[in-house]
Amino acid sequence: MSIAYFSMEICLEHGIPTYSGGLGVLAGDTIRSAADLSISLVAVTLLHRKGYFYQRLDATGWQREEPVEWAVEDYLRERSQRVTVMIEGRTVHIRAWQYDVQGAEGFTVPVFLLDTDLPENAEGDRTLTHYLYGGDQHYRLCQEAVLGIGGVRMLRALGYDQLTRFHMNEGHASLLTLELLDEAATQAGRTAITHEDVDVVRKQCVFTTHTPVPAGHDKFPMDLVIQVLGRRDVYDMHEVFCCEGLLNMTYLALNLSHYVNGVAKRHGEVSQLMFARYKIDAITNGVHAVTWTSPPFQQLFDRYIPGWRQDNFSLRYALNIPKQELWATHLQAKKRLLEYVNDQTNLGMDVDHFTLGFARRAATYKRTDLLFHDLERLKRIVANTGPIQVIYAGKAHPQDQEGKTLIQRIIKAKEALQSYLKVAYLENYDMELGQFITAGVDVWLNTPQPPLEASGTSGMKAALNGVPSLSILDGWWLEGHIEGITGWAIGQDGGNEGTPRDAAQDAAFLYDALERTVAPVFYRNRDRFIDVMRHAIAINGAFFNTQRMLQQYVMNAYTR
Ligand SMILES: *Cc1c(COP(=O)(O)O)cnc(C)c1O
Repeated sequence: MSIAYFSMEICLEHGIPTYSGGLGVLAGDTIRSAADLSISLVAVTLLHRKGYFYQRLDATGWQREEPVEWAVEDYLRERSQRVTVMIEGRTVHIRAWQYDVQGAEGFTVPVFLLDTDLPENAEGDRTLTHYLYGGDQHYRLCQEAVLGIGGVRMLRALGYDQLTRFHMNEGHASLLTLELLDEAATQAGRTAITHEDVDVVRKQCVFTTHTPVPAGHDKFPMDLVIQVLGRRDVYDMHEVFCCEGLLNMTYLALNLSHYVNGVAKRHGEVSQLMFARYKIDAITNGVHAVTWTSPPFQQLFDRYIPGWRQDNFSLRYALNIPKQELWATHLQAKKRLLEYVNDQTNLGMDVDHFTLGFARRAATYKRTDLLFHDLERLKRIVANTGPIQVIYAGKAHPQDQEGKTLIQRIIKAKEALQSYLKVAYLENYDMELGQFITAGVDVWLNTPQPPLEASGTSGMKAALNGVPSLSILDGWWLEGHIEGITGWAIGQDGGNEGTPRDAAQDAAFLYDALERTVAPVFYRNRDRFIDVMRHAIAINGAFFNTQRMLQQYVMNAYTR
């Protein structure tokens, strides 16, 4: 078994800004667990030399983007091999930079970051690997040609000729199937692609879909495809290119994969409804346990659950950790976070006060502002239950005006609530800030519009740190939630249909849960609260990690 893992974004470490959110974090965590498990895997992505932007909020709460220049040579090692792809009839030269991910036992998984910024390329082609999710459709398609076609060629040039599976983490990498089809035909001594080649490629490919709405899938008009990739006979093969006049990257991946999965049980079901002609399985996402466990909790687990780093399932025994020690450890993580928050914001947040956290991309479906739906009600809750502090973070995509408006609404609410509860919106959400926030708050809040939170992973990071979730029943929380045991639900499960939810109704469910259950348990029944924390670790931390997830990929996708 030898796996090539392709992803448009990968979160490798703080300091390498080559990711925008959950997809890249998942890719990084997958690779970290592959290294821990000594799984023969090699990963391919783009360099994104100009990074995903640095976020600043101006005085009105409007997001400003600044480029993140990063010293590529400080982190990555240049490889000497060069490959080319034809784009619009021009030869585009590609080089690869290598980053090694070291596993717990010293096993290494190499990651290759493709780069077209070479003097031999035309000016425009040199920028193709500069911006993650930048530019227009044309730019995106050229990037995807570099990733998919260039990526396979680079792996071959680097000597990877025994790869048994090609795993497409989302549809951005689907063009790799065209290169594999060409390889299969060449192998058979032909130039024309046949049905046998399609079968050969299908056996090699695995596809993970992440987006439960059709609009979220990359699509390109065929005339643009012909302009960028040239004419190819394969466009006329209906089992490969199914959709009239459009290249739909999801369908390309579906057509050429023998195993397809969604990223949580519900997301698998919703995807199955969307793509009825295909068989869609589900493997629920996870997070890399050691990466997302705060140093104080790492030390606690080392003491009570030795071996948890090698075997994440053993986190189940967190149920035996004495309550007072668990609480003391939580306070350490909370103090670290609040020191950072107070330093950034001068808000004077208090370690004894009930603290909610919400950090994720500022996308409309996440409904970041649901907590502020009814400010008067929120003020009454604070008066009834005790102080509440809320810590927010998250970037909006530079072109997403609605996302930016969402952030601005939080800032406005923060001002309106000033003398009632403390609200912080921390700038420039990234891996490091994510580690801080998920570990340091008391309860992790999530309010997506079902079924759009395909999985969600930040609540899993929180669980590893004993931070229970208060969340809408969607994505992974449908599987991780046991009411009052691992956390709390906001409202009921609406089923697979995902009928549009009424924000006022969901906000009322959220307020009810906060006022009647969550804040009272925190302030008046600390013993119960700590018991929920322990179960968050034992039931959810032990399962929703990438070690378990990757073992499922091995069983269901990589070895079948
Ligand atoms: C974990 C993480 C995400 C994904 O969080 P979701 O809950 O899935 O939205 C996004 N960005 C960063 C920086 C993260 O650490």
